[in-house]
Amino acid sequence: MKPAAKNSLTPLPMKARMKVPRQLMPEQPANERNKNFSEVNLGYSPELAQQEALRCLECAKPTCTVNCPVGVKVKEFVELIVAGDFLGAAAKIREDNVLPAVTGRVCPQEDHCEGKCLLSKKVKPLGVGYLERFVADYEQRMGTHVLPNVPPTGKKVAVVGSGPSGLTVAGDLIQKGHKVRVFEALHELGGVLVYGIPEFRLPKHIIRQQLDYMRRMGVEFETNVVVGRTVTLDELMQEEGYDAVYIGTGAGLPQFMGIPGEHLNGVYSANEFLTRINLMKAYKFPAYDEPMLDLNGKDVAVIGGGNTALDAIRSALRLGARKAYVLYRRSEAEMPARAEEVHHARQEGIDFQMLTAPVELLSDGKGWMTGARCVRMELGEPDAQGRRRPIPLSGSEFDLPLSVAIMAIGTTANPIVQSTTPGLGTNKRGYIQADSETQRTTRQGVFAGGDIVTGAATVILAMGAGRRAARSIHDYLTTGQW
Ligand code: FAD
Ligand code: SF4
Repeated sequence: MKPAAKNSLTPLPMKARMKVPRQLMPEQPANERNKNFSEVNLGYSPELAQQEALRCLECAKPTCTVNCPVGVKVKEFVELIVAGDFLGAAAKIREDNVLPAVTGRVCPQEDHCEGKCLLSKKVKPLGVGYLERFVADYEQRMGTHVLPNVPPTGKKVAVVGSGPSGLTVAGDLIQKGHKVRVFEALHELGGVLVYGIPEFRLPKHIIRQQLDYMRRMGVEFETNVVVGRTVTLDELMQEEGYDAVYIGTGAGLPQFMGIPGEHLNGVYSANEFLTRINLMKAYKFPAYDEPMLDLNGKDVAVIGGGNTALDAIRSALRLGARKAYVLYRRSEAEMPARAEEVHHARQEGIDFQMLTAPVELLSDGKGWMTGARCVRMELGEPDAQGRRRPIPLSGSEFDLPLSVAIMAIGTTANPIVQSTTPGLGTNKRGYIQADSETQRTTRQGVFAGGDIVTGAATVILAMGAGRRAARSIHDYLTTGQW
């Protein structure tokens, strides 16, 4: 496709910028989208993007950039949008962010760039995520990614895990001339971006396009390789000649509540539920038959209040659930999910039962779940993380009829790489110890980052760790100093 002719707008006087309303994201109507898996947000047109970009105050010290974990130069790319140079804007973002079409869609912008936008003191913040998504999609449609041309260094790096942290390391190091090979345990690449986040938030073709671009840059990928089982980390370094290894294996091991009835048919971990939808393609029903997820006419609840919980329950609604509940033990103010997802879920008809937790899952006596015995909560003193502690209210028990319960109360570290790599330090929760600046582990030449170091966090924090790791891997490979 040919790039659109440049339509350069004249920047507005400062006061007038505050008067331009934040441009709304076009979206599928709620009562249509809750029956399909197509993307909810439809993306800005060039006109909407330029109107939104006009709102930027062009701060002398842009707090948006300071608060972006990878330091995207927001002010500069937004100026290029105003000037009608959308490809230039995309190139500017790519200097700091290898997955802009992803972050534009799933970053919790309210905690990062938009959270500190000066506009938000008086009006709504600049739609940084929407703009980032716009230019990344525009660039994709034009098919004009510029491939780097760097001389090879002769050094080889193995990346374990193809989630956002591993992909960031691979994308950054290939641009430094190192040979990079990514090893992925699953049969599809992308980590949570593919097996966790559903199509209606992050279409799979977006990840495939990003992966194609990385392949064209020279990154090699190998799927169905469980490092620690198929091959050990020591074998990669000692027998296959890798000079450095990055571990980005995520925190994909599901946790359960430990309440009676969790063994019943109808109880899933959110990971299993979403993997069945995303990797076993239940989202393409009826073309793909995933009989376990025929939810027509069934009542379903998810337990938890994060992005995973909302992805699971909104998927259940799209698979035909009659009632779809979120059971969350705190109040909405403490919910860790992105604000936009909570808003969208409500519009779609999800029933939020706040300050509520199951204490037992009920059985029909033949192994199938029939409901959840729940208790209402009140909030007490803040816990170690500063979130107010939920306290059960005595006498508040009630039974909620349910056919399916999905546990989304968090995940923890998968131990395979740690347990098969002598000398690799871990903390008491099983996460890999890595320096927060250099991402170096306790083993020479081995770096780690993303959820496997921090515990379950966010895409952009995993990418930030990948960025830091790529820098220090490059230093290590070029200086030989540990
Ligand atoms: P992952 O994305 O988990 O990738 C790790 C990869 O390593 C996986 O592909 C795994 O198969 C592979 N692997 C594991 N062990 C091995 C091994 N031994 N050998 C080879 N490969 C291995 N964050 C946001 O910012 N916004 C959101 O909207 C959001 N929504 C989410 C929705 C869901 C359903 C989930 C589960 C998470 C969500 N998150 C979101 C969190 C975010 O996706 C993670 O923080 C992020 O993906 C972590 O990246 P990572 O690269 O560390 O690990
Ligand atoms: Fe904001 Fe995320 Fe983009 Fe950074 S990468 S500017 S935090 S949307």
